[in-house]
Amino acid sequence: MTTTEHPKKERTLVIVKPDGIQRSLMGEIIKRYEQAGYKLVATKLVLPTAEQAKDHYMVGGEEWLESVGVKASAAYEKKGMKSPFMTPRENGLAILETNAKYLSSGPVLAMVWQGAHVVEVIRKLTGGTEPRSSEAGSIRGDFVHDSYMISDTDNRSIRNLIHASGSAADAEKEIRVWFHEHEMIDYRLINEAILYDVNLDGILD
Ligand code: ADP
Ligand code: MG
Repeated sequence: MTTTEHPKKERTLVIVKPDGIQRSLMGEIIKRYEQAGYKLVATKLVLPTAEQAKDHYMVGGEEWLESVGVKASAAYEKKGMKSPFMTPRENGLAILETNAKYLSSGPVLAMVWQGAHVVEVIRKLTGGTEPRSSEAGSIRGDFVHDSYMISDTDNRSIRNLIHASGSAADAEKEIRVWFHEHEMIDYRLINEAILYDVNLDGILD
């Protein structure tokens, strides 16, 4: 989003991961974002390659590799345990490999959602990375219970149903991994008048 654009133009990339499709949760997931007032501007069912999955995660670069490892260590510490990985980066590289396998294991639903604060609010509705500790009421908290402990023991990614961009800047880069600009539809949703118009006129006859 450029600074001259209205905040309602903010976009985020959401992917219903292969486990979300297999659990028949596409409709439920779309419903949650729709009912929060967001507008779907692009979508497609994709069978990603491992390469595409890696490109997607590497949008966050070295910073992401480090931060996933740090987040996992903190979760282990909270349970009075130690992460099985030597360094956060080593953990990040292992996660990149398992994520590529995870995302390319079956079809995924890629979507671009638009609206004010969409990155932050969709992350909140989606819930924290580890479903075991994701907030009740969030999508991950309500529909799955996977943990760092089980996924690391089995040397696989945490199955948490959804990807949702972590920042507006990452979202714009991630969108380019999955969509061409012409695949995004610029349209007016009637709901937006109620959400964003300065005056609520046009309601009364
Ligand atoms: P989020 O999806 O909540 O933004 P991250 O960007 O930190 O989380 O990580 C991307 C994805 O990698 C997660 O959704 C999850 O599927 C997987 N993942 C992250 N950390 C781990 C971990 N320590 N062990 C296994 N898989 C992980
Ligand atoms: Mg992330």
